[in-house]
Amino acid sequence: MGRVAALVIAAPLALGLATAPAASAAAVTTLYYSSSGAPDYLAQIDQGAANWNAAVTDVKLVKRNTSATIVFHEIHSGGSYTNTNGHGRGQIYLDTSQVAEGFDPTRIAAHELGHNLGLPDHYSGPCTELMSGHGPGTACKNAKPSAAEAAKVQSLWVNGLVAQAAAENRAVAY
Ligand SMILES: [Zn+2]
Repeated sequence: MGRVAALVIAAPLALGLATAPAASAAAVTTLYYSSSGAPDYLAQIDQGAANWNAAVTDVKLVKRNTSATIVFHEIHSGGSYTNTNGHGRGQIYLDTSQVAEGFDPTRIAAHELGHNLGLPDHYSGPCTELMSGHGPGTACKNAKPSAAEAAKVQSLWVNGLVAQAAAENRAVAY
């Protein structure tokens, strides 16, 4: 009996020692996005994702046009929006007519990615916030999350948001 218990305990200890240097670092969740459905905005989508990757470390956005969980599309009316569970899965629709009005496509892409990362809209916020969306008007070209937005996403994903209970899909606009 004592022997068996000692063996059972020994294995996790050995693993713990082997991985000790990484033990204090949070696990990184990689989310894959596909942009081939929005061919006019490939560079803007990549920049929006890069802006998130520069701001947070718990979750990473990587382009992959097969088996992506975040999928970009292009539409031509009705306003940009995303249908997402806020847990790294969603369909993002970028409206070319909204871009023609003067709204910045990189900011739109980064904003919709923000929804997929778990952030709600905050239209009354300043241009320095991504989730203020269309609120600050067409003059606002900021496509980077604010420090508070980055901190919120970082905290949401610290243990891997996808591992938590899945939320219902819902549509949210730019
Ligand atoms: Zn929105």
